[in-house]
This record gives sequence, C-alpha cells and structure tokens, in this order.
Amino acid sequence: MEPVEIRKILVANRGEIAVRILRACREMGISAVAVYSQADEHALHVRRASEAIELGPAAPSESYLHAARILQAARQSGAQAIHPGYGFLSENAAFARAVVQAGLVFIGPGAAAIEAMGDKARAREQMQAAGVPVVPGHHGAADDQSLAEAARRIGFPILVKATAGGGGKGMRIAHDEGELDEALAAARREAEHAFGDDRLILEKYIRGARHVEIQILADAHGNTIHLNERECSIQRRHQKIIEEAPSPLLDSELRARMGSAAVAAAQAVGYTGAGTVEFIVDPEEGAYYFLEMNTRLQVEHPVTEMTTGLDLVQLQIQLASAQPLPAALRAARPPLGHAIECRLYAEDPANQFLPAAGPVLRFRPPEGPGIRVDSGVESGDQVTTHYDPLLAKIIVHAADRDSAIRRMQAALRDTVLLGLTSNLEFLQDIQRHPAFQRGLTTTGFIEEHMADWQPGSDLPIEVLVAAALASRAAPAGRHGRPEAAPDSPWQTLLDFRLGRPST
Ligand code: ADP
Repeated sequence: MEPVEIRKILVANRGEIAVRILRACREMGISAVAVYSQADEHALHVRRASEAIELGPAAPSESYLHAARILQAARQSGAQAIHPGYGFLSENAAFARAVVQAGLVFIGPGAAAIEAMGDKARAREQMQAAGVPVVPGHHGAADDQSLAEAARRIGFPILVKATAGGGGKGMRIAHDEGELDEALAAARREAEHAFGDDRLILEKYIRGARHVEIQILADAHGNTIHLNERECSIQRRHQKIIEEAPSPLLDSELRARMGSAAVAAAQAVGYTGAGTVEFIVDPEEGAYYFLEMNTRLQVEHPVTEMTTGLDLVQLQIQLASAQPLPAALRAARPPLGHAIECRLYAEDPANQFLPAAGPVLRFRPPEGPGIRVDSGVESGDQVTTHYDPLLAKIIVHAADRDSAIRRMQAALRDTVLLGLTSNLEFLQDIQRHPAFQRGLTTTGFIEEHMADWQPGSDLPIEVLVAAALASRAAPAGRHGRPEAAPDSPWQTLLDFRLGRPST
C-alpha cells in the first residue's frame, strides 16, 4: 500500500481529546480544523484551533454524532482525513465506511474490524477461533430460557452484558439464580434504551479481578506490535478513573503472554492503526481472559506514552497514511519507569458520582518535572451537562511506582479547581489509601474501600480564601449566616465547606 500524504485533518471531537489531537497535528506540521456544537462555541478546543466549523445544536445527535454534517465540514474545509478521538463516532463502523466512501482517510481501523469488535458475541466467537482465551460464558441463543440454562451451567455469580454494550451500560450482576430474572430484565431494558438492541451475553463474574489492557499498533503492511499494558482497575460504575503503567500485577513473562494474545486478537480481525485489547485478569488463578477490543485511541493513552516515550496520536496519523511501523518499534521493550493517570471529573463522588455542571471559576493545573496535564477546560469556561464530564487528566511519570504515587499526591494537592463539584479530593484519598499504595488494585476497590466516602475539611488554602471572601461579600441569610444566591457557584463552595449536600 502506497503512503498517502495527509496535509489537513478534521478533528471530530471536543474537550481534552480534541485539544490533544490538535497538538499532535501542530507538531507534525499538519493543518487541523475543529468542529463544535452551539454549546461549545467558546470551548477550549475551538480556541486552540486556527479553523473551526459549527455543526449544530448542543445535543450530540445534532452535532458531534451527526455524520453528514461532519462529512460536510470536512469537504468544506478541504481536510483529507478525519480523526474521531474517542466516544462519539469513533467506533461507528457506518461512519468509518462513509468517511472512506467520501474519499477521505479515517484515522482508525477499517470498518470491518470495528464491526467485528463492536459486537460482544461476535468478538467472543472470533477470539475463541483465534485461540485467545475468553471469560467462561455464553454468547449463543439470547432468549431468557437459553440464558437461564447457560447461567446454571456456567455457575454464579454471573455478569449479564449487552451484546452491543459499551461504557458499562446494560451490565448487571446476578449473584445467584434468584437474581437472574431481574438482572436479565434490567440489562435488556438498558441495552434497548442505550443501543436499540436488547441482545445479551453472559460471563462468569470474576471477583477480585483486575482490568489489564494491552496497547497495540498495526500497520497496513502486516506488522502488528504491542506497547505493553495499562492497569485500569480503579473504576466506578464499571468506568475507569485511575490508570497506570506498568500494572503492579504483571511480571515480564505474563506481559509477554498477554502481549502476544493481544497481537493475535488484532490480527484475527485484520486490524490496522492503534487499538486496545482489554483483558480481565483473575489474580488467584493467574488467568487472563479477553473482554473486548476498543478500536480507537483510549482516554488513558498518556500512561503508555510516558512509559514508552512515543506519541500515539502521531503514530495513528502515520499509520493512517499507510506508513510502515518504524523498525525500531518492532522489538519488545520493557516499560520505562512508572506512570499514573487520574481523571478529573465534574462529578460528585459522595452522591453516586452524579455529573456536575457550572462555571470553572478557577482552574490551576499542577506543573513540575514528570507532570503532564491534558485538559479540556481553562479558568472562565463553562461545563454543561450535554457531554461527558471529564475536565482534565493529570498524569505523572517517575522512576518507580512509589515515587509516581508521591508525585501524583503532590500534583493533586497543587491542583486548584473552584466553582464546580469535582472528584479531586476523592482521587487524593485513593492515592493515600494503603491498599492502593500496596498495589492491591482490583475492580471492586471503590466499592470495597470508598463506599461511604465523604469530603473532608482538608481544603487547599485557595478554597478557604475564596469561601471567606464569598461569605464577606454575600448578604446575611435567614439564619444570620451569609448566603449566596442558590444558583451561585459560591453557594456550592459554602455548602462544600459546611458539609451540606449542594443543591
Ligand atoms: P463496556 O464495553 O461496557 O465498557 P466491558 O466488557 O469492557 O464493558 O467491562 C467493563 C468493566 O466491567 C471491566 O473493566 C471490569 O471492571 C468489569 N467486568 C467486565 N467483565 C467482567 C467479568 N466477567 N468479571 C468481572 N468483572 C468484569
């Protein structure tokens, strides 16, 4: 396949990942065009782009998920390629196909590979055929009776998953047979609602499991390699919030075996580009099982970048241009030092991680040696409820895991975020937790150790000063206490300080 020259890329996303892709384009001397919804007219990714095109109203279906408008924007701007980022249209096979049919380059794998991996039943079948171990389970007939029979055969606890699933949606645990009917019904409802497809699969639910994933790269000339693992077990609602590389669990032998399994998985579907093969690891059995393949750039790609010294977005662009993988990358390399990523979300960890919205009155990201921040917001920006509440990713790199944890603790302490509820303090408490520090990171960590978590009073000085200023400025309320307007960000701050649930 002849290399294609990409001179201009349309970035079909928003937030931190759009900013990240724009940076890669700038470094490569490639022009970039951003797209935005009406709610994002003043967003950071638009400010960072030299050219930006409006897509439509705030609703994702009218903007970032509107394939025809995105293709029109690409034509209008003269872009030769589209980078979909993660989420939105990134794993939509029909979109990938439409991009190619429009004569453009899709920066990602071919539509057939996306399709093969987008269906959990089909992916399990193909992985089994390729000799990649899958979780003991069932992916055949999906009527309730067949599923009940299969569940009895597999044994409880059972995890019910939506065949079309993603983002932890349509997933339910049945601890015993008595819970199965309800779990099947709830998973079906959620799957139908989220994906318009109520088919289900079953997997044995592995307790005390770890989520370990392998980054792979494949070129269009038959070379597929892996770039070691990321451990992503710290999750809430089956969604990651802290990731690290290398995994505290893996030794070089297990790394090599899982790496080869990931390469085999990618090759089985004719994969090209960057992708991630996710495994669930049963530490007791020392066994690993294929979970799914994400056919795109992952949120947590920076921990791989920090421990390999590579730029995955630039590599994606090179691979999409049909360039061969550099020969230097083809030999296995041990991870360099240790990297940790914390996802800073506008959400309330004391209230079921409910997303928060509001103004970013002040955001001061941490800085210093070995600290990287991939942010989608700056002071003065507005966070709305239309999109994912990820604000920024704080990533640290150090010589070993203990030093990386200390560096992350300092980085989080230095982070100032005023104006909206976030998980900043929750992330700090996880970094301080003895079980985290000992590397005992399992997917049940938050339920096990953080279930009754409440914010403490250990606030940074900026918050105390801001709260004091706000109370001086605000008129006295009903109880003689200074009161800000109920919708004022200062009210949230005061409530936070006073330990009241914010409204
Ligand atoms: P989604 O596609 O919705 O993200 P995944 O299949 O990737 O769903 O699983 C998401 C998370 O759920 C995993 O990272 C893991 O924490 C948990 N999980 C998935 N399958 C199992 C299993 N068989 N046993 C235990 N935990 C699981």
